[in-house]
Amino acid sequence: MDWPALQAAVSSCTRCSLCETRVAAVNGRGAERAAWIAIAGAPAPADEEAVQAVTGEAGQLLHNMLKAIELKPETDVYITNVVKCRPPNRNPTGEEVLACRPYLERELALSGATMAMAFGQFAAKGLMMGPAARGKVMHYGANQLPVVATYHPDDLLGKPEDKAKAWADLCLAKASHG
Ligand code: SF4
Repeated sequence: MDWPALQAAVSSCTRCSLCETRVAAVNGRGAERAAWIAIAGAPAPADEEAVQAVTGEAGQLLHNMLKAIELKPETDVYITNVVKCRPPNRNPTGEEVLACRPYLERELALSGATMAMAFGQFAAKGLMMGPAARGKVMHYGANQLPVVATYHPDDLLGKPEDKAKAWADLCLAKASHG
């Protein structure tokens, strides 16, 4: 699948039960070839409404976080979610994460990303499909993609005192990627 075929497949997907409650499936956005991939957990209500991954104030803060480590969000980063449809006021289940995984795998392959950051606790655990933690470099998949987890921008908007820890995570990711 190329990008248009992938986006069309996500938009009309019925692989899991989230298709029954979603308003719209939310594709990733950003650079089609990108050294970095930014992965959040699942679309928020505002993302679903805008049909855009990590939108609004959270999206602006995400861009600022990326710029702080000298990345250009528009050309250096592809931004997506672990699952593409918003669950109704809960985290996605393991089954839903598994059902959606082929789309994320295709995004990883098409973007060619060589560094990943997971934004939010669910994003990290959902991506790694198991335990995950901030403060260390994890590795995902057959290609051993380096992954650093940090806070979701929405979390930081509600709890700005965690920004120092997020900055440490960003610096770790930057140092890991060289
Ligand atoms: Fe399909 Fe993923 Fe949406 Fe489930 S969450 S319906 S697998 S696009």
